[in-house]
Amino acid sequence: MTTSYWERTAKKEVYAPLDKDLEAEVLIVGGGLTGLMTAWNLMQAGKKAVIVEARTIGSGVSGNTTAHLNSSVDCDYHIVAQNFGKDTAKLVAEAAVLGIELVGQVDKAHNLDANYKKLPAYIYAETTDQILELQKELKAAKEAGLDVEEVEEIEGLNFPTGMVVRFNRNARFHPLKFLYGLAETLREAGVQIYEQTRVEEHNEKDGYVEVTLSTGATVRAQHLVLATHSPIFMHSVHTRMAPYRSYAIAVRTRQPVPDSLIYDMREPYNYVRKEEDDVVIIGGADHKTGQTGDENQHLQNIKAWAEERFGIAEYLASWSAQVFEPADNLPFIGKSLTHKRVYYGTGYSGDGTLWGSFAGYLLSDIILGKENKFAELFSPARLNVKAEAGEFLKENLNVAKEFIVERFSSDASDVKEIPNGEGKILRQGIQQYAVFRDDQGGLHVMSPTCVHMGCVVQWNKMEKTWDCPCHGGRYKATGEQLSGPPATGLRKAEL
Ligand SMILES: Cc1cc2nc3c(=O)[nH]c(=O)nc-3n(C[C@H](O)[C@H](O)[C@H](O)COP(=O)(O)OP(=O)(O)OC[C@H]3O[C@@H](n4cnc5c(N)ncnc54)[C@H](O)[C@@H]3O)c2cc1C
Repeated sequence: MTTSYWERTAKKEVYAPLDKDLEAEVLIVGGGLTGLMTAWNLMQAGKKAVIVEARTIGSGVSGNTTAHLNSSVDCDYHIVAQNFGKDTAKLVAEAAVLGIELVGQVDKAHNLDANYKKLPAYIYAETTDQILELQKELKAAKEAGLDVEEVEEIEGLNFPTGMVVRFNRNARFHPLKFLYGLAETLREAGVQIYEQTRVEEHNEKDGYVEVTLSTGATVRAQHLVLATHSPIFMHSVHTRMAPYRSYAIAVRTRQPVPDSLIYDMREPYNYVRKEEDDVVIIGGADHKTGQTGDENQHLQNIKAWAEERFGIAEYLASWSAQVFEPADNLPFIGKSLTHKRVYYGTGYSGDGTLWGSFAGYLLSDIILGKENKFAELFSPARLNVKAEAGEFLKENLNVAKEFIVERFSSDASDVKEIPNGEGKILRQGIQQYAVFRDDQGGLHVMSPTCVHMGCVVQWNKMEKTWDCPCHGGRYKATGEQLSGPPATGLRKAEL
């Protein structure tokens, strides 16, 4: 798997696994932004949560993000206003700004030194269609109460752009310096943090949730927060959002790059920002998870975009991770529809650093039983047929197609066709297998059926993982669960 620039430039503490039974008022599953910000908000109210993380703090998408905190969120204010009304667009803008501000407040309050910096975000339109779209967005963003304006140009940019809109008072930060520092702050305040501790099962009983861990230990919790990016186990919300891979590079450029957040409006869009003086982070090239011939090609697309505009002097890192696009454009943050004591935040699109930060605040209030004006809007219980029906149908037809078509497909019919370090879907008779050959030539044979809802996983050539094209479950080459809805790994099989 790839290693992000953030992982290369931050130092973390190690937390031991949880190997004894425990009782907790609030158990948080997942040590990313959502999990740690929920723990931080609960701590402000005097509650000390327990955090369990399957791998290490920040090893999920939060450590593989590009960490723009931009109020120009992917949900598009003009679409939200059209589907939900202008008052809702205002609430969304307010929530986005809160998410941005909270990261800054936490960074400052605990001296995390996470390079948090306030700066403007620019969106530029290159074609007539894009200009029309951007004009609508500018109007809707203003009406939603954001500090936004049309400007002549992007100050300091070395190539011409068409129409430009500037969203003021946005920010950027180093996500792992932030999370590693925050984890230590929480631990020092009495929050228990455990790494290498995977939640494998949960059962809601009368008055508590019983959670079984990969270490064999059990936790009884009054409230369970699934801060796992997409909630583990079965939830109807999985059918209301679609998984996409997204890519990023860290480079030194030959041309100067202004210190701001910059986005084009291509499909998929490209975006760029500086980190330190001479380090530039560039992202984009999104595509449906598990539905592309070669993931490396998407990375090449970003490299080519960056080379053409800024000239690449040095590559420092390249990586990819996943985003979940909600059918009605808004994140789902709140109580699970099927459980009384289970909560999650998901469907963040490409804005999960600010939504993760905001989710920590909202989930904490919901758990504490406090009234919160945002609760209803972001609740997984909301249903707006006008906003959701089209995307819901499109994505679920796509899932149905993947479910059926991939049952009959294969990449190889003989293990000899699988080189060292590669995986392929192998067909023998009517049976399919997910087969990985490691660097020493050893074969790892698994059932290719995703343990979440039964789709056939696909080999990711860049990350060397098995990715499910339906709901975004991901597994290591050797089958262990990585992320997405499944809580356990692919089943072992024999040829
Ligand atoms: C390339 C890329 C660029 C992005 N850029 C931006 C950006 O510029 N701005 C922005 O706002 N957003 C961006 N995003 C989105 C944003 O980074 C994510 O939405 C956000 O980090 C998600 O945080 P999270 O805490 O919800 O999930 P994660 O950070 O994924 O945390 C979930 C954690 O749960 C753990 N876990 C999973 N299953 C279990 C289990 N069974 N037991 C225990 N632990 C478990 C995982 O190991 C993981 O650490 C980007 C995303 C990508 C992919």
